Amino acid sequence: MSALTPLTPLTLRELSAIGVDRLKGVGEKKLASLREVGIASVLDLLTTYPRRWVDRTNECRVSDLQAGVESLVLVTVRSATKRVGRNRRTIVEALVGDGSGRVHVVFFNQPWRERQLQEGLQVALFGKPDVYRGGLQMTNPIVDLIGDRTGRIVPIYPQSEKAALNTWEIAGWVEDALKRCDVRGVADPVEQSVLRRLGLTDRHQALKSIHLPETMAEKNEARRRLAFDELLRVQTVLVMRKRALERESRGIRHTVNGELTARLRDALPYELTGAQTRVIGEIEADLAGPHPMHRLLQGDVGSGKTLVAVSAMLTAVQGGHQGALMAPTEVLAEQHATSVRRLLDGVTVPDPRSLFGDRPLRVNLLTNRVTGSERREVLAGLADGTVDIAIGTHALIQEGVEFHSLGVVVVDEQHRFGVEQRAALRAKGDGDFVPDVLVMTATPIPRTAAMTVYGDLDVSVLDEMPPGRTPIKTHSAEGPLMEQAAWATVREEVAAGRQAYVVCPLIEESEKLEVASAQETYDRLSHDELKGLRLALLHGRMPSAEKEATMDRFRRGEIDVLVATTVIEVGVDVPNATVMVVLDADRFGIAQLHQLRGRVGRGEHASQCWLLTQQAAQPVAGQAAGNPRIDALVATTDGFELAEVDLELRGEGTLMNTAQKGRSDLRLASLRRDRELVVQARETAFGIVDADPLLDANPILLDELRLLFTADDEAFLFKN
Ligand code: ADP
Ligand code: MG
Repeated sequence: MSALTPLTPLTLRELSAIGVDRLKGVGEKKLASLREVGIASVLDLLTTYPRRWVDRTNECRVSDLQAGVESLVLVTVRSATKRVGRNRRTIVEALVGDGSGRVHVVFFNQPWRERQLQEGLQVALFGKPDVYRGGLQMTNPIVDLIGDRTGRIVPIYPQSEKAALNTWEIAGWVEDALKRCDVRGVADPVEQSVLRRLGLTDRHQALKSIHLPETMAEKNEARRRLAFDELLRVQTVLVMRKRALERESRGIRHTVNGELTARLRDALPYELTGAQTRVIGEIEADLAGPHPMHRLLQGDVGSGKTLVAVSAMLTAVQGGHQGALMAPTEVLAEQHATSVRRLLDGVTVPDPRSLFGDRPLRVNLLTNRVTGSERREVLAGLADGTVDIAIGTHALIQEGVEFHSLGVVVVDEQHRFGVEQRAALRAKGDGDFVPDVLVMTATPIPRTAAMTVYGDLDVSVLDEMPPGRTPIKTHSAEGPLMEQAAWATVREEVAAGRQAYVVCPLIEESEKLEVASAQETYDRLSHDELKGLRLALLHGRMPSAEKEATMDRFRRGEIDVLVATTVIEVGVDVPNATVMVVLDADRFGIAQLHQLRGRVGRGEHASQCWLLTQQAAQPVAGQAAGNPRIDALVATTDGFELAEVDLELRGEGTLMNTAQKGRSDLRLASLRRDRELVVQARETAFGIVDADPLLDANPILLDELRLLFTADDEAFLFKN
């Protein structure tokens, strides 16, 4: 090394440029194995974190094992023998133990265990012991060979039988790599003052401590720091994207507090909720400002989002611009059109060309079902500005759709639109100005998840329900007997003058099958369980006019029971409907059931929701009875609480898939467990980016972002 080379700390990029073949003991064969599990560089190796840490002194003694309780023991192999049992299955039996006692272990169909479990070998076993012949026995436990590693805490790495890599080899290479880092140290992108304020350890120390901790507490601190780094990178990218959008696009300065929005408010038969007033205020502040709005509106079912959306679109209209509302499906778009028209009934807009200086406000639907001359008319109206509010699907952002002056766009997202579509929408502005965008999610997502998935948006929350709602009681009903109770309830409610929904089984694979099954359900109920009541069928394949007619009859109370597919998920609003029965409820997700249930409980009468499931033929051993999703719905009607449960059950993977790429960087951080850390990372990212928008003064951080995010995703990172 030349004397002139300054000994700067190692950056992640430098670590990513050093091959693992440079480490002690990595020959050609091991190199190939490491490649197979995705470890090519020292950076890859150091970010392959242990999946468990075993505290030799504290846990995992054989004498503490209890039948039926999953546990980990750290033991020495005494013996292992192989025999062939009944059905020609190979059985390997081993006796293992520690200072406190011994335990039998059996492996079925893993003949190689006999060779693996050499006498004297130290292993960690993870499994659930059973009582067998009066003693404890573990069957097919997870085995981690830990070799002759010393130290109080033993890291256990993800290992691969296939790639022939075991945890002590990985631990050895990691230790070697860490030792080599000691000379120069590891670069830290976070300022000392920030680390001190948040109580975070230094990065180099954290890397050492996560792999070779002295205590569990030290490991926890290390994890916290490294998880923070992962979250900080994601948040910095999101905040930079947000600021870049604000910087680079000019928005329309809308006129707020104008005549149209005032008229809308005056015409309402009710007062706005406090939350609606607050959120409309937040939106109007954005609309009046010079930057285009880019805001997420979260609100539980029934919290009154439609009104907020309409108010935002009217703000555009009163300044001579247009509003658009985009829904993920045609059915939803049609339903939105109905509710928006109802809210805007009788509203007029100033028109100097008209005799009276006024003309009725024009709301048009644009989906792929709008064709021919009707479509041509709508397109012409959008282009010349006579359509004030357009409601539709993706059709709205297709080529060939020109707006005269698109001012406000509302996207009813439901997790189905991504960043790209939002960008396409912004591009529908008239060239000089970028329209304001409001994204509505009908399903609340936990705040910290929202910060990551929608981190480039500002967030408004409608956290208050309009008054006069009665709580919904939810029942879960399994099997034919309990199903009868649900139908009895429907009959009672109808007899008392109320109405009911029956939601047919969801068949995601095929709308055609779903419609057929809905028809079947309708026929069966009309002839059997609900004979004598006035039933009607509603599904997505019916012509719009027929659907509208059916909905109108239901609204007027001419139908007692509406048998429907999920077309009623949103937009349907009949306060007199007090019962919902969902068939095969276990086929639906939490969010969808919550949405559906939101169709009842909208009036003064107490409402009920029955979630029916078919009886399991036989309870599966070892599996908890019941369905955790249905249990959650029975337990609460709070959408945010349900969103947390949903995240818990489905894991964040599903959530992240719908989000942007580049999120795979989250190896340690969990949006569920690390909520506080997400908030801290986001605040830190704002601090950094607002002081230094292009990260000129933070070259280490900028370089890490460029290293870990792709150019496609984050064009603004790669400018210069
Ligand atoms: P969301 O779209 O958030 O599920 P909606 O906008 O469909 O909710 O509103 C649900 C119902 O509440 C509708 O019947 C609507 O007319 C009514 N509503 C909205 N705001 C209020 C309010 N401030 N007071 C009383 N009722 C309201
Ligand atoms: Mg709605």
